[in-house]
Amino acid sequence: MPCYKQYNSERKHTGFICGRLGEHCRECGDVADYLCDFPVGNGKTCDRPLCGHHATEIGPGLHYCPTHHAEWSKFRNDGGVKLELQNVLPYKVG
Ligand SMILES: [Zn+2]
Ligand SMILES: [Zn+2]
Repeated sequence: MPCYKQYNSERKHTGFICGRLGEHCRECGDVADYLCDFPVGNGKTCDRPLCGHHATEIGPGLHYCPTHHAEWSKFRNDGGVKLELQNVLPYKVG
């Protein structure tokens, strides 16, 4: 049975939980609730498993890993993406 690292709100490692909870976050070993949706060509996405802390929401249902979020932020800041921020809804947990 796989075990996952657990962190508190200060990102201190507090222990483990074990169970069939799917993928591990590739950044920290916590339970991965998200996959990176960054397009990598050929209709594929990065698909890096990420926990809620390491997945950055860039749009409704769209999450990027830290590496791709940094790339995307740079691209956007350079004027590459015109984002309609008012259309981005907050993600609802549960
Ligand atoms: Zn993580
Ligand atoms: Zn990624």
